[in-house]
Amino acid sequence: MSDTHCPSCGSCGFPMESEDDFAGGNREAAYCSTCADSNGHLKPFDTVVALNADYFVRHQGIDLSAAVELARTLLQTMPAWAGNQSTLQ
Ligand SMILES: [Zn+2]
Repeated sequence: MSDTHCPSCGSCGFPMESEDDFAGGNREAAYCSTCADSNGHLKPFDTVVALNADYFVRHQGIDLSAAVELARTLLQTMPAWAGNQSTLQ
């Protein structure tokens, strides 16, 4: 398998480059280490929203409530969550 395309997380779109970026350090994982547990299983939607919101707060310096809204909006457009309304609350 020689895939020159940098894979991105199917949940949050984060580009996964180093092994640490992948869930469980597994380069075959479809999700990043933020969105999935060490077994590669996607965390609950609200947990992923909270983790991504926290990232936005720390890296973009925006307000937590705005960050939560941003994360929620972004995640809902991603393959892992789009059309999967049963996981949305
Ligand atoms: Zn992710």
